Amino acid sequence: MQLYIDAHCHLKNICNYSDDLEKLISQGICGFICNAENPDNWDNILTLTQQYNNVYGCVGVHPWCIGSLQDDWVRDMQKLLNKNSRLMIGEVGLDKNYPDLELQESIFMAQLELAIELNRPIHIHCVGAWDKMLRILKTYKGCVELHAFSASDEILKQLLKKDNVFFSYSAAVLDSGRQKLLEVVKNTPADRILVESDTKSPLIIIDIVKRIADIKSVAVDKIADTIYKNSLRLIENGQIS
Ligand SMILES: [Zn+2]
Repeated sequence: MQLYIDAHCHLKNICNYSDDLEKLISQGICGFICNAENPDNWDNILTLTQQYNNVYGCVGVHPWCIGSLQDDWVRDMQKLLNKNSRLMIGEVGLDKNYPDLELQESIFMAQLELAIELNRPIHIHCVGAWDKMLRILKTYKGCVELHAFSASDEILKQLLKKDNVFFSYSAAVLDSGRQKLLEVVKNTPADRILVESDTKSPLIIIDIVKRIADIKSVAVDKIADTIYKNSLRLIENGQIS
């Protein structure tokens, strides 16, 4: 059976579907990378990762959730990561459509530093702030997942110069009106592609993989296998051979 890993989802969709987790697993979706939005999610995500081997947890602060942070959030996050070697960092990043880009950046930078210090993959959200993100990632040495990637072909080219960056495609690729995005998918090397449900049912990643095979004119089982292996490489912190 073909195996799939959902490279970016949230507690909400995992919990909504948790009764059916076994069913999802029986359909080949054997891994779920579950992202946090804010410190309120961290314990629940940790519990879920302890309950299910198939759930890979992330802790972090989403750029939409920077408003209500306690002063000691970085120390708490560091403690949690130190105690749990399987935890990754996410969802973090920059979003121009949300307030206070400067504060977003300082919170994002603190989490990038933790990712380097503790040697963990990081799951990044970026909307409308690619100039800043490219500058930041230029010197970043850790393993990165760019969630729901939909930037331009030029930005893809810049990012491909780094060998530790994965591009995760969401249900947006199912929209045939997104011509520019489809071109970007076509130009993304197979060994850098991940797929994600984000806030939808994890089952959607099977359709996303089929769609990517179609866009790239390659066999579904071949690319599905490559994408699955890419997800494992991400989880293993970018062991790129
Ligand atoms: Zn997300």
